[in-house]
Amino acid sequence: MSYYIRDALAAPNVLSTRRPTINEYFLSSYTLSIYSGCEFGCPYCDGWVYDPRSFSQQIRVPLDLPQRLAIELNQVDRGDLIAITALSDPYQPAEQSFRIMRQVLQHFADRGQPCLIMTKSPAILEDISLLQRINEQSLAIVMTTLITLDHNLAERLEGRAPPPTLRLDMLTALQRAGIPVGVAVVPVIPYVNDTDYAMRRLLQACAERKVDFVVWDYLYVPDRYHRNRVSEMLAQIGSYPSSYYRDIYGDQIVVNADYRAERNLQFLKRCDMLGLNVHAPHRLYMGKLAPRNEAALVLKHTGFRSLLSGQQRVSLLHRELADQIYTGTVTTEQIQSSPLAATLQGILG
Ligand code: SF4
Repeated sequence: MSYYIRDALAAPNVLSTRRPTINEYFLSSYTLSIYSGCEFGCPYCDGWVYDPRSFSQQIRVPLDLPQRLAIELNQVDRGDLIAITALSDPYQPAEQSFRIMRQVLQHFADRGQPCLIMTKSPAILEDISLLQRINEQSLAIVMTTLITLDHNLAERLEGRAPPPTLRLDMLTALQRAGIPVGVAVVPVIPYVNDTDYAMRRLLQACAERKVDFVVWDYLYVPDRYHRNRVSEMLAQIGSYPSSYYRDIYGDQIVVNADYRAERNLQFLKRCDMLGLNVHAPHRLYMGKLAPRNEAALVLKHTGFRSLLSGQQRVSLLHRELADQIYTGTVTTEQIQSSPLAATLQGILG
């Protein structure tokens, strides 16, 4: 049972500062959180790290957020995308009572601000006309997280959130309304949802629904409290050896590089076989973001593929150039020396 605390926003700003590097998963330059805490309370969620005691029980409702956002938006370039993806679902049940998210979308729609929203809740469909208004002017993308299609496993891993099939139906409804959609397979939990069978089933479902793109990332275990919480979650699922973390995480907060490299490759191959885009395809954001953002994303997404095909040096060059373009510190010579020079010049003009 969750309870709500109506409050003024505690942070000095509604939006994050502009990111020093564009987020290649979410195409974003800024991050925005609506509520603090999340009633869905998925045990793997990073949100627990910031609020370990009351993350899913005590939901802070920042009543002044929309008004303050409206003021801050005046300082934001309309070619920069704002992502609402972090640590709290914007369409958790609180939204039915407070409609903070709806007011935020109204501000975005009034100025055509590009945005990307991550939610597990079909309640977003109630705001579909606002999303369409934004998307007609610039870009509104909706993503959902999907980590398994196994009903029993989903019950144990994220039983308070709407079930995976409802999320897929939500994506289909959004697509029918012309809204681009993506799936985040996050987190990939080693030996839980990362088997070839589970991955194939999940990606096959994404392909059948014709989602525009997928991304993935791995379980993050930043401290011992989160490790204990994840251990409890694992105990609900099956019996895992006591060496589970030592073998695959060691003393790191992310799973080891060998594991990641191997799984990344498998994901990529499977997506290619199914014709699924890995990361948002260029056609989706072409001409809809600031040219420097568009060029930086093309470079980063190309760099990701280069990395997985063993071209570390090329990948690094793409990523460095992406950051220089994004921050406006690039020279004409640097652009001309890129293998993607023609594409970049086409975007940057
Ligand atoms: S729905 Fe998202 S934000 Fe909410 S607890 Fe689950 S993973 Fe975290």
